[in-house]
Amino acid sequence: MDVILFGPPGAGKGTQASAASMAAGIPHVSTGDIFRHHLRNGTELGEKVRRYMNAGELVPDEVVVEVVASRLEEDDATGGVLFDGFPRTVNQARLLRAWLKDHGRDVDVVVNLVVPDAVVEARLSGRRSCLACGATFHVQHSPPGPDGACTKCDSKVVQREDDKAETVRNRIDTYHSQTAPVLAWARDGIRVVDVDANQPIRLVREAVLAALR
Ligand code: AMP
Repeated sequence: MDVILFGPPGAGKGTQASAASMAAGIPHVSTGDIFRHHLRNGTELGEKVRRYMNAGELVPDEVVVEVVASRLEEDDATGGVLFDGFPRTVNQARLLRAWLKDHGRDVDVVVNLVVPDAVVEARLSGRRSCLACGATFHVQHSPPGPDGACTKCDSKVVQREDDKAETVRNRIDTYHSQTAPVLAWARDGIRVVDVDANQPIRLVREAVLAALR
């Protein structure tokens, strides 16, 4: 089964992805996580994507598509994948679908997490992240442990460069101008399930899992 977990930054895609990928028995592929891994490790790819990520802009399609294509060649991806943060342009979406069709697969469902812009802005600006294990916190709703340590791995929790206020606005604008059109494209021939993601995490999870059944 191939699933696209869709929605603006801060919609909760990362939060919902692990339960969803476990339930569907497919690996979670987050292009943002892959890029952050390369940034942390100072690889050539990391250097290539740094300025786009820090500015809240999209990494060029050809770079993203190459990264995803090589991830799809890995053994655990042959039975399907849960995509998180990809595709983010109609071009990426078309190329993904063409690749899947070439391999006898297709996008089975797009789960669209719907959240108002004002909520996204508040969530992202208050978000704090553990760059070591990926756990996320919120300054008001779920603060990290004492001394700002991660409650899962004890590393230091920080504000992601791209969660700073100015960049957050840019990411939301980028979502509307370049990523939201993927939805209109998907609705023409792919099953799209809209999920209200402005409700408690547990309820969102139930709705996401129902969409995968
Ligand atoms: P995310 O963690 O999904 O919000 O991604 C963080 C940043 O990585 C984005 O703001 C983009 O700069 C970059 N990025 C991640 N996925 C993509 C994608 N599919 N296309 C272009 N840029 C991406």
